[in-house]
Amino acid sequence: MKTICAAAMLSLLLLTGCTSAQDSGVHSRELFAMDTYMSLKAYGAHAEEALGEAAAKINDLEGQLSVTDTGSEIYAANHAGGSAVPISAETAAILQEARRTAAESGNALQISVYPLVRTWGFTTGEYRVPADSELAALCTHVGDARISFDSSTLTVPADMEIDLGALAKGFAGDAAAEIMRRHGVTSAIINLGGNVQAVGTKPDGSKWTVGVRDPFNENQLCGTVHVADKAVVTSGNYERCFTAEDGTKYWHIIDPASGRPADSGLCSVTVIGGSGLRCDALSTALFVEGTERAAAHWRACSDFEMVLVTAEMIYVTEGIAGDFSVGSTLPFEVLRR
Ligand code: FAD
Ligand code: MG
Repeated sequence: MKTICAAAMLSLLLLTGCTSAQDSGVHSRELFAMDTYMSLKAYGAHAEEALGEAAAKINDLEGQLSVTDTGSEIYAANHAGGSAVPISAETAAILQEARRTAAESGNALQISVYPLVRTWGFTTGEYRVPADSELAALCTHVGDARISFDSSTLTVPADMEIDLGALAKGFAGDAAAEIMRRHGVTSAIINLGGNVQAVGTKPDGSKWTVGVRDPFNENQLCGTVHVADKAVVTSGNYERCFTAEDGTKYWHIIDPASGRPADSGLCSVTVIGGSGLRCDALSTALFVEGTERAAAHWRACSDFEMVLVTAEMIYVTEGIAGDFSVGSTLPFEVLRR
């Protein structure tokens, strides 16, 4: 029997420590966009106008970037029969980040896996386990190197389709955080369904605390990270997943090499860094890469930290270890450069 796993909304629990709107001056917005529940909290005199603008921006970005919205730039590119379509500078920036992450990760991130994601039913909820021959045939249409774009046009070959679901929420988080800062907000926490963006510190000057969910228990945390002015983005095998009749569990992060859910041994990857877009692209790529490749990838870069969770172990990179509190009985190891 198919089982829908834990809701995306509960993937990260925010522990903001704020108690009442009256004494803390907190303003908040909740919205449902990009098929996920989003919650934005901001403090201070300009919070209300910043929240309104940020929510409007997120909705605009959904219209621009959604793979299913017939008015989006991505839909236009996927249905242009291989012709170039106009794109915004924002879409070009996301495509550029996807290209960079693909290059860094040995093509673990491929935005052209979309036909595979759809075939498994992760976009519709009508889950199925495709035959090996079907997957092999679909894999011949995966390969981001065949996509071409510049700052204003995008060409997707006629036999391919792309989806920015692995990294566009990160871009939306950056945009929302930027709006907060532009309005002079120095204390805000933005949660776009597993993509958390901390603006400044809590109003008392202390760091924000962001929970990393226990992949095996939706009501528990396996740890918390303490951050200021950072994105904290998680990809896990406990969201958008199903259990087939034979008891095998399948999830939405696809290994482009096999066309199957990435079976790297990782249950979740949390990436901490300055850019939500970068962290989102990385969280998906590192999940596909698995612990050893992810560690090598981290050692080759200097702009992110990560928490890797397997069934047996939690690995935390040394740059965030001092700001990580273990909340699990799993053994804990610090990865060093
Ligand atoms: P992440 O790990 O960040 O991303 C995983 C997603 O990326 C997968 O679900 C798949 O779509 C894709 N993917 C899987 N493997 C790879 C790979 N190797 N390389 C590249 N990409 C991969 N969902 C709906 O069901 N309906 C909607 O209408 C809808 N609209 C959306 C609109 C926008 C603008 C965006 C950004 C997303 C939308 N989504 C929609 C998707 C939804 O938000 C997903 O939950 C989200 O994209 C997955 O993000 P994540 O953080 O859970 O996982
Ligand atoms: Mg991602």
